[in-house]
Amino acid sequence: MNNPILLQNLRNVPDFPIKGIQFKDVTTLFKNPECLRIMVDELYELYKDKGITKVVGIESRGFVIGAALALRLGAGFIMCRKPGKLPAETKRASYMKEYGKDTIEIHADAITEDDVVLLHDDLLATGGSMKAAYGLVKEFHPRKVFINFLIELTIEGLNGRAVFDDETEITTLIRI
Ligand code: AMP
Repeated sequence: MNNPILLQNLRNVPDFPIKGIQFKDVTTLFKNPECLRIMVDELYELYKDKGITKVVGIESRGFVIGAALALRLGAGFIMCRKPGKLPAETKRASYMKEYGKDTIEIHADAITEDDVVLLHDDLLATGGSMKAAYGLVKEFHPRKVFINFLIELTIEGLNGRAVFDDETEITTLIRI
């Protein structure tokens, strides 16, 4: 955790998208081949023995490493998307985020009761978006649901983990 190469390459953008937000810009991790390898390797080590059958990535920054990890784990990849983007029947949930309200959707046939799911996103702030995605995935009654973020924000009094119960297994690669 907190690999120094990842920490060095993560860009902080002050006051984006609104004043007061310190935006952690993971595009600088995605564009660096060594960072890409480190992130996927670390995640593979965390989840290789968990029997993961589906990785669910949250739009849009959760798609990048989510899909790479699914390939590495031999799992399928599912997109959790903004409203109106998925073409077939969906389930949806609304939630509050650090800077506004949002809604997410997942295809109604994305997951089965036989699946072991890993939910993945780039960053945990208040936990609102992942809590909504977690609720959606739970509606499918999969065997088990794991949660991962590349980055966990603990600065400015944020404690996104608090919105999940103690049994939920959450990992993060970088804590700031
Ligand atoms: P939350 O639902 O509050 O945990 O917010 C997490 C989601 O919002 C993730 O999809 C992040 O991409 C985005 N996000 C929220 N706060 C930040 C931040 N300070 N820097 C980068 N992304 C953020």
